[in-house]
Formats: sequence, C-alpha cells, structure tokens
Amino acid sequence: MAKSVRASVKIDVEKSEIRTFARPEIPADAGLLRVESSGVGGSDPEMYRKENSAPCIMGHEIVGTVETLGESAARRWGLKPGDRIALHEYLPCWKCEWCLKGDFRLCMETDFFNLKDRFNTLRYGTCNAEIAPHLWGGFAEHVYLAPNAVIHRVPEGLDARVATLAIPLGNGVQWAVYDGGAKFGSRVLVFGPGQQGMGCALAAKAAGAAIVIIAGMSRDRARLDTSLKLGADVAVDVQSQDLAKAVMAATGGRGVDVVVDTTGDPTGEIAAQAIALSAKGATLSLNGLGQSVPIGEIKKRYLTVRAPRGHSYTAVAAALDLCASGRWPVELMCSHDFGLGEVHEAVLATAGRAIDGALHVTVNPWK
Ligand SMILES: [Zn+2]
Repeated sequence: MAKSVRASVKIDVEKSEIRTFARPEIPADAGLLRVESSGVGGSDPEMYRKENSAPCIMGHEIVGTVETLGESAARRWGLKPGDRIALHEYLPCWKCEWCLKGDFRLCMETDFFNLKDRFNTLRYGTCNAEIAPHLWGGFAEHVYLAPNAVIHRVPEGLDARVATLAIPLGNGVQWAVYDGGAKFGSRVLVFGPGQQGMGCALAAKAAGAAIVIIAGMSRDRARLDTSLKLGADVAVDVQSQDLAKAVMAATGGRGVDVVVDTTGDPTGEIAAQAIALSAKGATLSLNGLGQSVPIGEIKKRYLTVRAPRGHSYTAVAAALDLCASGRWPVELMCSHDFGLGEVHEAVLATAGRAIDGALHVTVNPWK
C-alpha cells in the first residue's frame, strides 16, 4: 500500500498542481476512501476563481471504494473495506436541531451562508488542505472519511462516473420535486439546460410530470437536444424562439405549475418570466441570489416561491436509484473524463471554456 496520496491542489486563482500527502493514520471512528471518480460541480468554476482560498483539494461529488475503516466507523456506518459509497459534501455536527431533524444541509457547521470562515470550516471540496489529515477533496487518490461524513451506498454494478451524477441529479430531485412540487400531471418549466437543469427535467418527468419544458440559449443547442432524451418534452432556445408562446402552446394557454431556475440569474429577469408564465397556484423554485420578487403579482396568482438549498439525504438516495434503474440514459450526461493532472482543464470545461460541449465532467485520479 502506497505511503503517500497524490492530490490536485488549487494553489492560486485558477491554478492547480499535483502535491503529495502522507497517507493518514485512520482512527477508530473514521476511514479512508479510494476515489474512483469525482464529478466537477456546477459551483466549482466559481470556487476555482475565488481568491484567498488556496491551498484546497477541490472535488465534492465523490464516489469511491472504502479502503480502510476504523472499528467503530465500520459499526456505525455498517460498512466494510471494499464497499462502494458516494459522499455528500457536507460534514454536519449531527447534534443541532437541523441535524436531528434530518436537514443537515442547514447545520451551522456546514451552512455556506452562515459560516464565518468558509475556507477553514471542514466541508469536502472547499476547505483548507493545510488542516490535517488534509484529504478533504475528491480530486485526489484518497479522501479522508471523517466521522461526521454523509454516506450513501452505491447501487451494485453502477458505473462510478454515472454514480457521481447523484449530486447534480439529487439537486434536480430536490429543486424540482421536493421544493418545486413537481408531481404526476404537473406542467414544469426549467431554466438552464446544464447538469442541474437536466437533473430537474429528469426528476420532474420521473415524478410523473405531464409536460417538461426546458429553456436555454443558442449556445446550449447540444444540451437542449440531450435534455429531450432525459425527460424534457419541449426544448426552447430563448434567443431564436418566443418562450412565452412555446410555454402557452405546450400548456394549452394555461401556464406551468412549477418553475425551476437553475441559472443563478442575478438580474431578476428569470423571476419575472417565471411569474408571467405561471398558472394560478404554481410553485417557483428560484436559485438566483439577489433577485427581487413582486409580492403583488405573487399574491394575484397565489404563487409559492422557494429558494432551494443544496440536496437532502433522500434526494441523493432517490437520484442514485434513478441512475441504477436503467430507465433513463443518464450516461449521456457524462461528457468528459480527465486525469488528476488535468483538473484545471476539467474545471474550465465545466465553465464552458477551452472545451465545447461539456455537460458533466469527471476526474479519475488513477488515469
Ligand atoms: Zn448540525
């Protein structure tokens, strides 16, 4: 067994290098994961651009095989070496009100919006690699399984790259179905045909939505076409088509019951469109920070507005089941796979830079 672990470390703004760390001693309540594949998340390009956060091992969509496991960790998690698992990025306290209620995403230990010092707070893929035992990110050969990690078993035989979709598809389940309320017979509109948007379209369709419309830009043509194979019934290029006309045509002039914005639009333009295209009683699941919403219009249409926050345990479990079901060609989302020395290219590809056509990009540390 190698005594050292190689990792790609973000050392400056959009700059990475391979560094070697000592293989950590594993206490009784922890473990060590041999990474099979790590997805590049939709938020990673922003993380990669961030100043004053180096050094950091990024990568928070982690799938791997348990290699070493302490005795009490094995008992607590019901795992043994050789088991395959997928991780959440959160490292919650498991003691607070939110953790006890099962909403560990809102735990103060892991809540991005409340953390005083995000960089020095432990969370997979975003924290300071100088904090022992250093292996806090998926772009590495091994990841430290902290006692408070949130773990899912990977369904048997599921390809590791497909299993990394558990996080973006988990967001889809959370934002479109659990928060947006998409269900049997719903008419759903999704803004943004990226990995999260496609996850929303698929989750809504799998939940029984009657019509799923996905909206993107002209540059998203390939993504819009892929969406049509992954749950969307109608794909609209908003730069060459009239979105309002397309939505009204697809819904018999009634408007939609659920709108999910995955674009993070800061202007409020999408919120305004979402309201205008909603049927009475619709739910809007809006992701843009800094959007303002007109309460009068919301009242008039009797709308519910939600702002989704990451993914719950149930959402990720449902996403893994969705991947394993074989009912949807989710592997179409796995567009590019890079080696450990190519994390820079992998993150830029996810940002739509350097390489065209990236959808969900993965890093294989053993490539
Ligand atoms: Zn907590």
